[in-house]
Amino acid sequence: MSVYEIGLRLQGKSVLVVGGGSIAGRRVPRLLAAGARVLLVAPEATTTLSDYAAAGEIQWERREWRSGDGDDAWFVLAATDAPEVNAAVAAEAEARRTWCVRADDAAASDAWTLAHAEFDGVSVAVSASGDPRRAAAVRDAVAAGLRTGEIEAPRNRTTRPAGVALVGAGPGDADLITLRGLELLRQAEVVVSDRLAPQELLDMLGEDVEIVDAAKLPYGRHTTQEQINAVMVERALEGKFVVRLKGGDGFVFGRGAEELDACLEAGVPVEVVPGLSSSIAGPAAAGVPVTERGVVHDFTVATGHVPPGPQSKVNWTALGAGNGTIVLLMAVKNRAAIAAALIEGGRAPETPVRIVENATTKNQTVRECALADLGVTEAHHPSVIVIGDVAGRAREL
Ligand code: SAH
Repeated sequence: MSVYEIGLRLQGKSVLVVGGGSIAGRRVPRLLAAGARVLLVAPEATTTLSDYAAAGEIQWERREWRSGDGDDAWFVLAATDAPEVNAAVAAEAEARRTWCVRADDAAASDAWTLAHAEFDGVSVAVSASGDPRRAAAVRDAVAAGLRTGEIEAPRNRTTRPAGVALVGAGPGDADLITLRGLELLRQAEVVVSDRLAPQELLDMLGEDVEIVDAAKLPYGRHTTQEQINAVMVERALEGKFVVRLKGGDGFVFGRGAEELDACLEAGVPVEVVPGLSSSIAGPAAAGVPVTERGVVHDFTVATGHVPPGPQSKVNWTALGAGNGTIVLLMAVKNRAAIAAALIEGGRAPETPVRIVENATTKNQTVRECALADLGVTEAHHPSVIVIGDVAGRAREL
């Protein structure tokens, strides 16, 4: 059976949804995203749907469907678990010449919901002669192709974003960038990258994209950070769309604040795209949750690049006295002094520690020790060091 694909522009138009179960729960968010005014008719609804109703995002008539409910509807979704009700809803819609999707019976349905994916302003809908699994498989393949760039979706230059996007690339595995980050990266004309950003992300950029390796900028009279800011701003002022790609989250020990200020001062439009920080993702990748109900109710992320002493802004004594999880970044070199300061502050010498090196990459290595032995336990850059009871409860992954 073949279908005629169309895109419904539902902005401001009423849509009737009958039934408040998981199918309605899956469809309603997309109807809302398309701007539809949703009337839900159902005696019961999922928590998410009742939250929508409570927030006024949909109208919910808490009762069984009755004839006439679809009078104002441009489009109807019959998604109850009672086939006879769905059939009645569909029959009435048909009598009124209103398109209706019957969720329970594709063959009896006048319209089908297609397998759908959206990436970077491109929307793809797939049907496969009524075989939803096959349609979903093709949809997944196309969506993956769009994300990796294997399927090109060239855009009109005038619709490109302008200015600078500060994009967190995630902890190391290229798959852990956000969809928004990837979407912007695919449109970049200039990418200013640093060493901890996944190389695979750069490999997928087009030949015409200028890649500036921040680690290789000449020092000269300026610090590299000033050079980075200058390159970003200069290129953006030339009218190029610049992505500043950082490992983890750019605002966690990533000097993102300085880059943001540089853009704002230069009057360059700037978008901030958060990334998955190694401070949380690193422990997670080693099976260590930074919090755990009934075990620990706080975690602190500290940099160890300055050893404990007058130069450090971290109150190591207070951290030692607490009982929360401590996550250390940039602490490989100073780990012995930090462990000593924490123990001096009151942390038990036997407190469990995990050292997660190259977290989330194929080279990930995890070592364990007690806090007292941190200084003599092997550790290499880049490592996240997680200290606390949660480190001792780590599950093997
Ligand atoms: N903005 C980054 C952190 C930058 S500071 C973020 O949010 O993740 C650099 C430090 O991050 C490194 O010294 C190391 O401690 C940690 N780090 C970053 N990526 C890492 C990874 N894949 N594995 C382990 N540690 C990592």
